[in-house]
Amino acid sequence: MARYTGSVCRLCRREGVKLFLKGERCYGPKCAVGKRPTPPGEHGQTRQRRQSEYGLQLREKQKVRRVYGVMETQFRRYFAKAERQHGITGENLLTTIERRLDNVVYRAGFGTSRNHARQLVRHGHILVNGKKVNIPSYLVEVNDVITIREKSAETEYFKAMREGTGKVLPKWLVIDAPNLKVTVAAMPQRDDVDLTVQEHLIVELYSR
Ligand code: SF4
Repeated sequence: MARYTGSVCRLCRREGVKLFLKGERCYGPKCAVGKRPTPPGEHGQTRQRRQSEYGLQLREKQKVRRVYGVMETQFRRYFAKAERQHGITGENLLTTIERRLDNVVYRAGFGTSRNHARQLVRHGHILVNGKKVNIPSYLVEVNDVITIREKSAETEYFKAMREGTGKVLPKWLVIDAPNLKVTVAAMPQRDDVDLTVQEHLIVELYSR
């Protein structure tokens, strides 16, 4: 599937918020949102438009898509799935995307960013219940156990993580750092998704 390969900092500037797409750099002084907090492009600094209702809804949707690195078609599929579930559609949408394997690998601290985590999955470093899964969009279930392939676990990169990944995990994930093992203890809830987004605007957008 085609992926966005341009500058990711440009995406943050477009949304006007940090989307944390670049790992360590996002926390330092080199972050582009801090340095140039205007939208990208020739008219980014001068053009100030009042945003329409549609514009606001679109921006919220794009924000979520970009944080998780999901293309439009797949995002629509997540939305359709969320609509079929019981409960609040917007919350269902976020909690479903949160269950992506690349996101779990990122949340566990095995990847420095979601993009990096996606690469780790794609390159076959990640096992789910002992079997290699190289599909970043794989949705984890309760009691799934995510580990690192034996050969990969011997590399310096992963060895360093046996001391702890330095990440505070959401309560639905339990890590056993010395064994590089993460267990899905529960389904994620809305408050586990640390994303400032008004998901009801996304629902309104797709309900037009
Ligand atoms: Fe976004 Fe990170 Fe780039 Fe800052 S450094 S603009 S948070 S991707």
